[in-house]
Amino acid sequence: MTLGPRPTLASLSEQNWDLIVIGGGITGAGVLLEAVRLGYRTLLLEQADFAWGTSSRSSKMVHGGLRYIAQGQVRLTRDALRERERLLRELPGLVERATYLFPLRKGSFPGRWPMTALLGVYDFLAGIRDRAYLSNEALLKRVPGLDAQGLAGALSYTDALTDDCRLVLRTLLEAARYQGRALNYARVTGVSHEGAATSAPLRVAVRDLTDDATATLSAHAVINATGAWAGQLGGDEERIRPLRGSHLFFSADRLPVRDCLTVLHPRDQRPVFIFPWEGVVCVGTTDLDHGEDLNREPRASAREMDYLLELLNQQFPGAGLGAGDVLSSMAGVRPVIRSSRPGKPSAEKRDHAVWEHDGIISVSGGKLTTFRLIALDALLAAGLLDRTGWRRARRGNVPLYAPIPEAPAQVDEFLHGDQDDDALLSWCLEHEAVVHLDDLLLRRTRLGLLRRDGGQALHDRLQGLTTAKLGWDAARWEREWQRYRRLRDDYYGVPGGLAEAS
Ligand SMILES: Cc1cc2nc3c(=O)[nH]c(=O)nc-3n(C[C@H](O)[C@H](O)[C@H](O)COP(=O)(O)OP(=O)(O)OC[C@H]3O[C@@H](n4cnc5c(N)ncnc54)[C@H](O)[C@@H]3O)c2cc1C
Repeated sequence: MTLGPRPTLASLSEQNWDLIVIGGGITGAGVLLEAVRLGYRTLLLEQADFAWGTSSRSSKMVHGGLRYIAQGQVRLTRDALRERERLLRELPGLVERATYLFPLRKGSFPGRWPMTALLGVYDFLAGIRDRAYLSNEALLKRVPGLDAQGLAGALSYTDALTDDCRLVLRTLLEAARYQGRALNYARVTGVSHEGAATSAPLRVAVRDLTDDATATLSAHAVINATGAWAGQLGGDEERIRPLRGSHLFFSADRLPVRDCLTVLHPRDQRPVFIFPWEGVVCVGTTDLDHGEDLNREPRASAREMDYLLELLNQQFPGAGLGAGDVLSSMAGVRPVIRSSRPGKPSAEKRDHAVWEHDGIISVSGGKLTTFRLIALDALLAAGLLDRTGWRRARRGNVPLYAPIPEAPAQVDEFLHGDQDDDALLSWCLEHEAVVHLDDLLLRRTRLGLLRRDGGQALHDRLQGLTTAKLGWDAARWEREWQRYRRLRDDYYGVPGGLAEAS
């Protein structure tokens, strides 16, 4: 199974597609996979790299979302928990169960009993029983350095973690098994009708950003799964409220956390997660309106870093963490469906929406966890699935993924920092449509985020591999290296730059 070799737009325009999916995040990948399983000839077009948008920048949690129950979104939580259990069964290794700890503090809300009740509902909706109470002693043994002042034990429960970008790639690879096609660096510039009748095929104008070639493709249906961008092709720019959330990464030596801690920020009582991920520790997120150009990579601001450091130093007062301890950062933009009376960012609901405009079905919002259900809703709206099929697919337990025997084990694994293995890098270069070096270092693997030097020490090895597998000459390698370093420093480095921050 492979996403390469990269097809030309000319070859793709020779076919009549049943469905063209715009957007190569988890939603688009999910739509592609469900559509090809139904037998539709389907092509996915992504303007940058696969998962370049929000789907490589989430908090990596495959979860029901405790806060969503608290907001009364019980159906969303139930659906997400069922999908969590399904993904745990189907992708063991890539989606892993993790222990979450919610430390309790005397006098703060929510206390032990309201939280126990909430976790009872959470477990009930997931069909498991996984909650427990931990004494102070047990908690401090598991989380050394946690502030002991006012501590009243902790409640423990389970959710799951993944590498969101690898989940997208895995879903695209699975779709390739059924002849689903996907092209990155292919921007859709417009969609129009071929004829006056509403049943007439749609014409999708595309530009290949690797060589500036353009083409017009024909499809019977188009699903716009462009997340935060969905308003642009979906005829209603105001529908989406882009909210930025940022994360910081720390070395596990400076912040030795083995479980996922859920703690409330002292400034606004928002839940923030501190969790082990791919061999480092991730802290996030923030939640604020993102007023910037969506086509520029989002980045964490120095104020967001201060907000997260304030929380860390309150929870781990002896650690003395500062900007110099930040390995890297990552910001993402949530495609949140704007409510009729928008309030604080954190109060906005996280449901998805599906709408039709000029023959195009648009889908946006929701969660990584529920991507399969979101995909089914979009296919129903596009008339590619009837209501009986939709109901059956939602409830059904037919596995979505099958093993890829020819791939190295890591393709199906949550990598725990073990990402510079030549077998994995070679597989990505040969089979996962790597166009630029940043695709390999920021998304196929996370080497650029996990290492303080951003992968500098791997320079010669990576040059050798890209020459051998992609045929890059010295000039191409140099351009790619400079491009990657610029992106890493400007958008994934220490917010505000280390000089300014320290
Ligand atoms: C900070 C943060 C934390 C989160 N944490 C979690 C979590 O822990 N668990 C969870 O379940 N969910 C989480 N989410 C939500 C989840 O990440 C998103 O709901 C999900 O990734 C959205 O996926 P998507 O495919 O709809 O959008 P995206 O991943 O943004 O994909 C849309 C794609 O469309 C492309 N595109 C746009 N315009 C065009 C065009 N004209 N032509 C071609 N392509 C185009 C973009 O480049 C982009 O790659 C989080 C979100 C954020 C921001």
